[in-house]
Amino acid sequence: EHARCCALREPLRPVRGRTRHEGRVRPPDHLVQQMALAPIHSLPIPDVFTALETTPDGLTAAEAALRLAAYGPNKLAALPLSPRWQKLTRQFVHPVAGLLFMAGLIALLIGSTALAVVIWLVVLVNAAFAYWQEYRAEQATAALEGLLPAYARALRGGQETQVHAWEIVPGDVLILAQGDNISADARVVEQFGLRANQANLTGESIASIKTAAASMRVDLSDLERPNLIFAGTSVSSGTGRAVVYSTGSATQFGRIARLTQAPAEGPSLLEQRLLRLTRSLSIGAIGLGTIVFFVGTLEVGIPQLEAFLLAVGIVVATIPEGLRPILTLTLAIAVQRLAQNGVLIKKLATLETLGKTSVICTDKSGTLTYNQMMVRDVWVAGQELDVTGSGYEPAGEITPVPSGLPIDAAYRLLLTAAILCNNARLLPPNEERPRWGVLGDQTEGALRVLALKGGINEEGVRQNYPRVHELPFDATRKRMSTIHRTGQGELVFVKGAPREVLQQCSHIQLTGSAVPLDEQARQTVMAANDNYARRARRVLALAYRNMPARRGRYKPETVECELIFLGLAAMMDPPRPEVVMALKSCREAGIRTVMITGDYGLTAESLARRVGMLAAEQPRILTGGEVDAMTDEELAGVLDGEILFARMAPEHKLRVVAAFQARGDVVAVSGDGVNDAPALRRADIGFVMGLSGTDVAREAADAVLTDDNFAAIVNAIAEGRTVFDNIRKFLTFIMSSNVTEVVPFALAALFDIPLALTVVQILAMDLGTDLLPALALGLERPEPEVMRNPPARREQPLVNGRLLRRALWIGGLETLLCYAAFFGVYYLAGNTAVRGSVFPADGTYATATTVFFAGLVMGQIGSALTNRTERPGLRRLGWFSNRLLWIGLAAGVLLALAIIYIPPLARVFDHVPLPPSVWLVLGLFGPIVLVADDLRKRLVRRLRPRAYLT
Ligand code: ATP
Repeated sequence: EHARCCALREPLRPVRGRTRHEGRVRPPDHLVQQMALAPIHSLPIPDVFTALETTPDGLTAAEAALRLAAYGPNKLAALPLSPRWQKLTRQFVHPVAGLLFMAGLIALLIGSTALAVVIWLVVLVNAAFAYWQEYRAEQATAALEGLLPAYARALRGGQETQVHAWEIVPGDVLILAQGDNISADARVVEQFGLRANQANLTGESIASIKTAAASMRVDLSDLERPNLIFAGTSVSSGTGRAVVYSTGSATQFGRIARLTQAPAEGPSLLEQRLLRLTRSLSIGAIGLGTIVFFVGTLEVGIPQLEAFLLAVGIVVATIPEGLRPILTLTLAIAVQRLAQNGVLIKKLATLETLGKTSVICTDKSGTLTYNQMMVRDVWVAGQELDVTGSGYEPAGEITPVPSGLPIDAAYRLLLTAAILCNNARLLPPNEERPRWGVLGDQTEGALRVLALKGGINEEGVRQNYPRVHELPFDATRKRMSTIHRTGQGELVFVKGAPREVLQQCSHIQLTGSAVPLDEQARQTVMAANDNYARRARRVLALAYRNMPARRGRYKPETVECELIFLGLAAMMDPPRPEVVMALKSCREAGIRTVMITGDYGLTAESLARRVGMLAAEQPRILTGGEVDAMTDEELAGVLDGEILFARMAPEHKLRVVAAFQARGDVVAVSGDGVNDAPALRRADIGFVMGLSGTDVAREAADAVLTDDNFAAIVNAIAEGRTVFDNIRKFLTFIMSSNVTEVVPFALAALFDIPLALTVVQILAMDLGTDLLPALALGLERPEPEVMRNPPARREQPLVNGRLLRRALWIGGLETLLCYAAFFGVYYLAGNTAVRGSVFPADGTYATATTVFFAGLVMGQIGSALTNRTERPGLRRLGWFSNRLLWIGLAAGVLLALAIIYIPPLARVFDHVPLPPSVWLVLGLFGPIVLVADDLRKRLVRRLRPRAYLT
């Protein structure tokens, strides 16, 4: 155990002595013995650095590169994927394949060898196609993962640097903040309220407290050590630093990951529904086949063998063989398209839920705004100051300069608080980043810039007031404090939301000294705050107090009280211009947008008005406290009308999301912080900001907005709706031809008339001529109206009565046309005695079945075109906007021509060549279907104008 803990404490350079064992580095034996005496958790902090051959400033870049070469990248060896042959086999073991296989077997037993071969060939081709689709989808998902790199912050040569998590090496000093994923096993050397969520490793959901001191107890396992943190876990609160001792497969997580395979994911809701659809169709088909068999043999008197073939035909005709692969590909392509437009979806099936979104709960900073904070105004000792400058560049002025005025002391203290109660770093421009940036919290970045503009000497104040502790920011307290040593005792600086800070203040710094804070002064402060908030400023209050030096733990209740109020800093965070349009499209699309923010009500309201989220004169503004006082039912009851949630803590956000869901809404949530994670997880679909989002939020979310752009959510919803519509389009298309395929079998069995379409012809349709057009329908572009309709209901099924009626109508029409042609052939041949045999031996039969098949292929051209939209007219979409559809239709026709005119193929299908005049007639079938359905659409629109609103 000890040896493992110290596994990487061996001297780095004599690499020769090391042996590699299962991807883990094992030090030479003499070192194991030596280290067993002093495991890493038992060392005092300075010895930790010595043991791991590093310094409090971290490794140099060169040393890190050396170690990376020696120890390998910090990632787990890829788990062995299920082998290709297994994936291929899986394509043969689903119910549809089984049923078709059986059908082939039966065909063989009754002597139809050609039919058996064709059926099995179909199973084979279908499996290969499905395998290829799955492979494509897998590649797409893998590519998405590549777009989501994991980062860590480490000290390299004294500089805080963002590096890829795989670049972390033993000896690196990690910098940890709330919400960070921990990327390697490390020993804590500094911490302020650090807690880690180790549920991934231990299953323990309560965050473990982490300490920096040496841990000497002998009865603890590594995982229980309070001064060790582990890869695969995350920081649930606080901040700290830790020195890495194990990376990659040598970590605790690596050991577990090797033992347990990632759990296989169950089928998504969409897949389940589709499975159910296929299953009900199969059961229906078998039922219908059985009825046809018995009615045919017992009532009509058809020979058993023929009746059996008819029954098999019905089964084959009804099962939509091509459905599964088309669906997967449709989703995969939509997900890829979204990725190009700034939204990474983690799972294909999320798309469907996305399309049904009826409420978007969004936070404010970073989503609706740029999260580019800049302090514009300062209120100190009753005086308002203006701040100039741009972005995070520490250049600008604070006017009027308060030097020499009585407020000078308060002003200096305020700036000192701004820079000391602060963990953010400013990043000067470089080649990659043309402007100044911030590492850490943007709000704190802005305060640091303010202090620098005010001329504070950072080094000086840091030396005068060294930090001894920090009570990290948390979204419920809405405050953060740092405690510093002074000559006399300790000095506490507090910053946070104005109300929350003011509550804890007993005095105010006015004229060089602190005076008691009376009610009037409180009102003055809040009036100044409201004044800024009405201009959409994010306001932070700063305060301080002196404390005697203390021993024991610092607690917020005892530290953050009796404070002396210093002043306010009001920041501007410009709204994103694209949000205005996006919110407008949401409104048109019947999607509500609701702001849920931790910020102050007036600030939130003012910003909401600026971006056009609020129109009502008096919107309802609920605060966290008010939500607390409500029951879930009461909360659900107030959600109508314009509403805005302010000063919310994470648990409130969660309740609001749940309340919307209880009303039947499909809720999308966007957020970035750890405090958003519960709501993101609870949401039907959680969006996380890709740039500013914390690791924990990223993990909780279903989708990532790569450039933090709210407008991308709206595009994603449009894409989701389009996918849902498109799936219904190709389902209608496929099912309409299935109708025409089933009817001949039923009619032949019931009336003892020639079978108009054979089983092999059906398979040629379902897996040949229909396949590409169906795929092309799945890739239709969004219709212009896609965001002008209200969202579909949560429980709306893919296949509903309307879809079935449409398929029956189009299929029925095609059946009529094809039978007209079929009997036309008999009629023209002067052969009118068509009853009495299912497989007549007359010379007309082959021509008639060829015509029926060709007629259906031509009819499906009309079906494909009309199924592009549920509204009249194709000009709105552009006749040729879906080029793949035309290519698919042309390919289908070519395939049909091939199996009619190329003799060896024609023999398999019992086809005979048709004269061109027949094609002239059959060529009309497409236009007839198209025009007839268009007329129906127009009629529906006239009779029921709201019929399109699902
Ligand atoms: P937004 O919707 O603007 O993103 P949020 O919901 O993320 O806000 P929180 O991060 O929960 O809000 O912050 C709540 C309040 O706490 C803020 O309005 C601010 O007043 C205060 N606050 C935010 N960050 C800090 C910080 N680093 N230190 C102290 N106080 C902070």
